[in-house]
Amino acid sequence: MRTSYQYKIKPTKEQAQKIDKTLEMLRYQYNYLLAQRFDWYEQNRSSIDRCPLICHLPELKDQPNYYNQKASLTQLKIDRPWYKEIHSQVLQEVPKKVEITFNRWLKGFRRERQPNGDANGKKSGRPRFKGKGQYKTFTYPQFNRHHFVNDKITLSKIGDVKVIVHRQIPDAFDIKTVSVTKKADGYYVSLSLDDKTIPGIKPDFNPDNIVGIDVGLIDFIVTSDNKRIVAPKFLRKAERKLKSAQRRISRRKKGSSRRKKAIKKLAIQHQKIADTRKDFHFKTANALLKKYDVVAVEKLNIKGLAKTKLSKSINDAGWGQFVSILSNKAENAGLKVISINPNGTSLECSSCGHKVKKPLSQRMHNCPVCHTSLCRDLNAAINIKNRGAHGLKAQLMSS
Ligand SMILES: [Zn+2]
Repeated sequence: MRTSYQYKIKPTKEQAQKIDKTLEMLRYQYNYLLAQRFDWYEQNRSSIDRCPLICHLPELKDQPNYYNQKASLTQLKIDRPWYKEIHSQVLQEVPKKVEITFNRWLKGFRRERQPNGDANGKKSGRPRFKGKGQYKTFTYPQFNRHHFVNDKITLSKIGDVKVIVHRQIPDAFDIKTVSVTKKADGYYVSLSLDDKTIPGIKPDFNPDNIVGIDVGLIDFIVTSDNKRIVAPKFLRKAERKLKSAQRRISRRKKGSSRRKKAIKKLAIQHQKIADTRKDFHFKTANALLKKYDVVAVEKLNIKGLAKTKLSKSINDAGWGQFVSILSNKAENAGLKVISINPNGTSLECSSCGHKVKKPLSQRMHNCPVCHTSLCRDLNAAINIKNRGAHGLKAQLMSS
């Protein structure tokens, strides 16, 4: 997500002069390129509408556009070497600005000439040449974050300029562009920031492409469309090994070298399992997000989880890690993970909502009201999906 911060800057006298001079030079160039556009348009129009002979006049060159006007800047720097004092990308913004202004006007102009062609009711006036002091801002379209350290910002061709930092830029923000603006009360920089923590939703995001997932008793995940993702065999085996390694340590005498050895072995085993599990979590998250745009999960309540779910199976180990990997991946891909209230997801009938109490050993959900009969994990996953769809709707409506 893009956002912007503005800071007042305190350039030295010399730096302020440089900024002023840059703005003036950009203003000249802006007026010149805009005039080129007008000239061509006026001449070209009359040649077509009125006098075909004028077409043979040598003044009629290629129509000025962004690319040839941008290319002309190279010659400009040869003819007027003082333009080399402006950062090249800053200078290139001028033909861009001219292009945008001119096209906006042309569009409005064409619309005006059509009998009832007012598309959106807006008419742009003829672009004006800018008078002294009316060109107020220039932009560095690429900026490295390390060019803004503490209260100093490094502006190419201007220098290290002092910034009044009234608030810090959060670490998760990337600086994309920097604009320098001259206002009545002094100079400012506007930083366009990319907030990596709140990325946008991908353009073809489909909120109906949603899945609910539940921690399975035997399977790692049961999805609302009845797919089961099983933890890799190695992982399950290693987890059993871990338990025996732990028991081995407790059998050995405290301080003995055999105990130390066993502890080391256990530590290595732990690391191996952690790595494998993490790898499995990444792969599972990728597989889910490749298929679905929204994944609904139960809100993690560590205390409650410890009592009910954690004891349920070895799959619970690392469920929190998996959800956080999944959430991160979803955010980066412009997809969504929705956390829902876990209360009663395994009791409620996914068809009629009737609460059907059942002990953990009861593998099936059999509803006495609507006679739905399905695996308890699948029933829970469908409830999670339904709650997720509901929650998502509320989220999308409020944003
Ligand atoms: Zn039912």
